Amino acid sequence: MSKRSEPVSAEACIALAAAGRELQAFPNRELSLGSLAVSRALPVKDKRLVGPWCFLDRFGPLSFTAGKPMDVAPHPHIGLQTVTWLFEGEVVHDDSLGSEAVLRPGGVNVMTAGGGITHAEQTPRDHTGRLNGVQLWVALLDRDRHMTPSFEHVQDVPTIEGASGLVHAFAGSLAEASSTAPFHSAIVGVDVRVHPGRTLDLPLEPTFEHAVLVVQGECTLDGQPLAERVLYYLGTNRSDVCFSSREGGRLLLIGGPPFPETILMWWNFVARTPEEIAQARTDWEAHARFGEVVAYAGPRLDAPALVHLARPNPVS
Ligand code: MN
Repeated sequence: MSKRSEPVSAEACIALAAAGRELQAFPNRELSLGSLAVSRALPVKDKRLVGPWCFLDRFGPLSFTAGKPMDVAPHPHIGLQTVTWLFEGEVVHDDSLGSEAVLRPGGVNVMTAGGGITHAEQTPRDHTGRLNGVQLWVALLDRDRHMTPSFEHVQDVPTIEGASGLVHAFAGSLAEASSTAPFHSAIVGVDVRVHPGRTLDLPLEPTFEHAVLVVQGECTLDGQPLAERVLYYLGTNRSDVCFSSREGGRLLLIGGPPFPETILMWWNFVARTPEEIAQARTDWEAHARFGEVVAYAGPRLDAPALVHLARPNPVS
């Protein structure tokens, strides 16, 4: 670990909590994607974005012997990047550019939708019978959101390992770990393991806002216990965060500069106006613009009905 991430005492963590630093709790929303149960951490009521991160779904942990727990048929995206990160198991990605990549723990799939792409994600034929992971979306800035679509598979993301824990940087940088995956604005996304009986102090970029999601075990943040299936928002102006665990714990830490633009999200689209959303939906239904995923056996997803879409409220 870097000097700044040397273990600090649990007493120091509690003192930080006493200093009244911001920690807001936002419960996840439980829902189903086909037969797959997911916990949605973003967007939820009163918390739509953390830096450029605009979506965070947790799936699993689950075991299976037959079938495909993940089977998301071809569907379109615009204006965002998808980031898939696994704790256990496998997911195969196929897209309209012809990219195919089997994702396993330690690697990351980053798809840049830009002006439009289609992809499918499913459990591959060869699998371990486990599925446990997250998918996140990154909103692209207006200057980037119409860019040419692309896909990048990184087999092994950078790590920081110390006596107190293990950090995988799947997006952006934390301390000396910098992800090689392509992102277009400042961002951080890391998977943090705190070893049993240990305390881990991680440096943060004070201009970023951050949030934390526990994915396994138990953990405290600045001395305060964290619950699973709750997104904890840390706000900005923090130069470090301190995690402790008695039994061992694992969490995600995401962040970035507060997003400077107001976005409009509908289905798999991130845009700015209802007209853009309606056009993207029309193009998908007309088999235009997005291409086809030839590697996927089966029908693609139909867009839901566009009943009413309010213009984004600039004060929210
Ligand atoms: Mn998708």
